Amino acid sequence: MDHRFQDKKYRLADFHKEVAVRCPSCHRKAIATVDYEQKKAKMICSYCGHLETKETLLNHLGMLDYFETSANVYFDAELWYLYPFKDDYFFAYNHSHLIYLEQYIGSKLREHKNRTHFTLLEKLPKFYHEAKNRESLLKLIEKLKRK
Ligand SMILES: [Zn+2]
Repeated sequence: MDHRFQDKKYRLADFHKEVAVRCPSCHRKAIATVDYEQKKAKMICSYCGHLETKETLLNHLGMLDYFETSANVYFDAELWYLYPFKDDYFFAYNHSHLIYLEQYIGSKLREHKNRTHFTLLEKLPKFYHEAKNRESLLKLIEKLKRK
């Protein structure tokens, strides 16, 4: 088995248009999506049928404008894949993001080709990269996957 992890150079933006969130009505897993071209965001819960749509207008530092950010932000919804870790938080926007992080953390040899300092792996807080945290992070991910 090849334990090498190849950085696919994903950015957070590659994952944040479809975000798993906590449904404000039933507290189970709902999905928030955003379409920047249409300037519309949508939150749907398949458990209770909760449905919300919004324009992507946000008030940022006193400026009301259309902002391109992660889909959960438009609804002020809590991330589903979120867990406190030490003095920080571990989070993933959706299941694919969680699996990507799991593969990275679980790999013994991590490959970063041509660092750009823009990919999500490069931007992760230090605790993600520390070998001593590997086991507890993987346990945490396992817990989130079964959530
Ligand atoms: Zn619901």
